Amino acid sequence: MDKQRITVARGDGIGPEIMQATLDILQAAGAPLEYDEIEIGEKVYERGVLSGIPADAWGIVQRNRVLLKAPITTPQGGGYKSINVTLRKALGLFANVRPSKAYVPYVSSNYPGMDLVMVRENEEDLYAGIEHQQTREVTQTLKLISRPGSEGIIRYAFEYARAYGRKRVTCMSKDNIMKQTDGLFHKVFDEVAAGYPDIEAEHMIVDIGAARVAARPDTLDVVVTTNLYGDILSDVAAQVAGSVGLAGSANVGREAAMFEAIHGSAPRMAGKGTANPSGLLQGAVMMLVHMGLAETAEKVHNAWLRALEDGMHTKDIYREGFSREQVSTMGFAEAVIARLGQLPQQLTPVHFKPTGIQVTLSPAPTVNKQLVGVDVFLDWSEAGRDPDVLGLRLEPCGTADLKLKMVSNRGIKVYPDGQPGIFHSDHWRARFGGDGKVSAEAVLALLGRVNAAGLEIIKTENLYTFDGLPGYSAELGE
Ligand code: NAD
Repeated sequence: MDKQRITVARGDGIGPEIMQATLDILQAAGAPLEYDEIEIGEKVYERGVLSGIPADAWGIVQRNRVLLKAPITTPQGGGYKSINVTLRKALGLFANVRPSKAYVPYVSSNYPGMDLVMVRENEEDLYAGIEHQQTREVTQTLKLISRPGSEGIIRYAFEYARAYGRKRVTCMSKDNIMKQTDGLFHKVFDEVAAGYPDIEAEHMIVDIGAARVAARPDTLDVVVTTNLYGDILSDVAAQVAGSVGLAGSANVGREAAMFEAIHGSAPRMAGKGTANPSGLLQGAVMMLVHMGLAETAEKVHNAWLRALEDGMHTKDIYREGFSREQVSTMGFAEAVIARLGQLPQQLTPVHFKPTGIQVTLSPAPTVNKQLVGVDVFLDWSEAGRDPDVLGLRLEPCGTADLKLKMVSNRGIKVYPDGQPGIFHSDHWRARFGGDGKVSAEAVLALLGRVNAAGLEIIKTENLYTFDGLPGYSAELGE
C-alpha cells in the first residue's frame, strides 16, 4: 500500500512524550504513513511569531492536509493567538468531532452506558469575533449562522452517524428565542434529517439538552450543535464520561483535517514519563479512519481497549488492587503494541467502516428578497432618556413609505405606549417601515433626516423579507 504523508507537531509539555508513544504504536500497527514534522507552539511564540506557527510550517500543513498535533502551551497575554483558532480558520476546519465514552469499570463514571459524539460547528456563530462598543453603556457581538455552514455540519453529523453505525442525531439550539439564527439551524436540521430516514432525528432546546448531557448522557447518541453551545457541551460531556485524559478530537474541513487529544500540555507533568498517551492515540485513531485506513484504526483501538481492561494503567487511572500494573507513557505504548491483533474481552470491540465522510451541499435556493424597512440604532441620553421625547423627534423624519413604527431599548418596545418603570440604556433602536417594498435611496434619505435632527446614528440594519416572510425579529411589545 502506498504510504500517505501527514504532518506531525510534537507540541509542548507532555506533547513530545505522548506523540512518541502514539507514533510507535502507529508504526507497530503497520499504518502506511510518512511524516513531516513542524515546530509550533511555545518556542515559536517566544521567537515573536504571534500565531505560534512559523511561515514555513504553513506550506507543509497545507500540502499534507492531515495534521496530528500534540497539545501546545499558549503563553498568557501579549497578543498571542490561539493556534487552534488560527488553524481552524485558515484550513476551513468546519467540524469539531469529540466522542465521549465511559470505560467503566476501568475509568470510573456515573454513566457506564455513555457513548456520545458531539459534532460542533467550528467556524461561525459568536466566534466570528465581530464585536463593537458604540455607546458608553452597551457592547455587542455578531452571531452569524449561515445556511451552507449549518447544512455542512448537520450533513456531517448524519454521515458520521451512518459511517459509525449510530442510530440517532440530536440537534440542540435555542430557536425559541433566536428565531432567525438558531431558527435557521433548526430548519436546516429538519430539511437534512428528511434525507436520512434510517437515522432517528430529534431537536432539543439547548438548556434542557445541556441538562441531559450532564444528567442522562447515556440517552444521547450523536449531538449536533452550533459553535458556542458545542464548545461548552463537549467539555461537559468529556468530564461526565470521566475520560478527559482518554478522549481525542477531530477538526475536519473539506480539504484538510487536524487530530489531537482534548487535554492540554500539562506542563508540570512534562519529562516525567507518567502522562497517559491515550487521548492523542484516540485522535490518531480518528485520523486513520478519516484517511480511509479503518482496518489499522480498528487494530489500534481494539489493542488499546485490551490494554485498558488488562489493567495496564498509567498513573492518572491507576487504582491499587484493581489495576494490574502502573506503567509509564512508553510502558503503556508497549502494552498496546503487545496486544495488536487482539480484541477486548469485556469492553465492546470497535468496528470502523472503510469510508471517509464526504459532505455535499444542496444548491442554494432561489429566494425573492425585498427591502421593506430599516432599524436605525442611536446613542441618545438627553431629556432624562424619556422615550416619548425621542419618539416625537423621530416621527417627523419618517415618510408615508418609511413610517416610524416603534422605538425599542434593549429589545423592549418603549415608544409608542411604552411601559413605565423600565430601565433605559443609552442604546436605542428606531424601526422604520411601510406596507411594502422601499428603495435604498429612501433609506439613505431617511438617515440624512435623522442625522439632520441632531441624533447620533451608530448603526443601521436593513429589514428584508424573503419570499414574503420577515427576515427580522418582531420586538417584545411590538
Ligand atoms: P491540561 O489538560 O494540560 O492539564 C490539566 C490536568 O490534567 C493536568 O494537571 C494533569 O493532571 C491532567 N492531564 C492532562 N493531560 C494528561 C495526560 N495525558 N495524562 C495524565 N494526566 C493528564 O490543562 P491546563 O493545565 O489548563 O493547560 C495547560 C496548557 O495547555 C495551557 O497552556 C493551555 O493553554 C494548553 N492547552 C492546550 C490545548 C491544545 O493544544 N489543544 C488544549 C487545552 C489546553
